[in-house]
Amino acid sequence: MNIAILSRNKKLYSTRRLVEACIQRGHEAVVIDVLRSYMNIASSKPEVHFNGESLPVVDAVIPRIGASVTFYGTAVLRQFEMMGAFPLCESVAISRSRDKLRSLQLMARKGVGMPNTGFAHNPDDIQDLIKMVGGAPLVIKLLEGTQGIGVVLAETKKAAESVIEAFMGLKANILVQEYIKEAGGADIRCLVIGDKVVAAMKRQAQAGEFRSNLHRGGSASLIKITPAERATAIKAAKIMGLNVAGVDILRSERGPLVMEVNSSPGLEGIETATGKDVAGMIIEFIEKNAKPHKTRTKGKG
Ligand code: ADP
Ligand code: MG
Repeated sequence: MNIAILSRNKKLYSTRRLVEACIQRGHEAVVIDVLRSYMNIASSKPEVHFNGESLPVVDAVIPRIGASVTFYGTAVLRQFEMMGAFPLCESVAISRSRDKLRSLQLMARKGVGMPNTGFAHNPDDIQDLIKMVGGAPLVIKLLEGTQGIGVVLAETKKAAESVIEAFMGLKANILVQEYIKEAGGADIRCLVIGDKVVAAMKRQAQAGEFRSNLHRGGSASLIKITPAERATAIKAAKIMGLNVAGVDILRSERGPLVMEVNSSPGLEGIETATGKDVAGMIIEFIEKNAKPHKTRTKGKG
């Protein structure tokens, strides 16, 4: 097969591993920087151009679209979908999963466990917002944050009020969430491919920190997940419509709680922690599922 990997940088671990896995399994791989590609959308024959040339039609596309390029990146992916390529994850599913509020609303509707969460833009009653999610300690998150930046633990009601006021002053959308203390600064990343969790790791925050992000000094290790955690991760990926997803779960007294669902999960941490060939499993999934013009929405949603 001809497989295009949409990635800004060939040297990134995940991109390199996907290229390697394609070649190992006898496929052709091309890495395309979405921001440098351009398209003719008015044509009856959709094309994507890159480096001055029209790209040949590929069989499948692996989108690795960073949060900051979601808008343009999903447009490029849609163009590939219109050309009949099989997307590992569909453009609509990626857009959906990038909207944290929409994701949480969709999962809540389907009964997936999650921390008690409120969101606000310019609340006229901060005290009531705090009360609504059960009071301090609280986690307050900037909606646009990633890698743990913009996630604050407010231990007291007073601290929570100040942080909410500060974010409000910045006109930011925020999410106010019950603090899951018993998670002990750890979360579980479940890597879902299709309807299976193929690898799982525990990320533990460094001492004195509650955020387990590896970028914040967290450390990753292999973990055996429970059947309930497995089922929750699979259900969350399915609700988002993602064939491949990194589902982040907190272990709480009332069972697994989903924090977020990532549509371009990094492979380095999970492959290192588990010793599994996740890149190879992703390509295997494409081999089994790719058919031309199989996108459900054809980019319409
Ligand atoms: P980001 O998208 O920036 O990674 P997250 O929502 O994943 O933001 O939060 C970063 C980290 O903070 C999580 O991995 C987890 O360790 C911790 N965390 C986030 N929300 C909660 C919560 N409600 N209770 C306990 N810990 C949390
Ligand atoms: Mg996170």
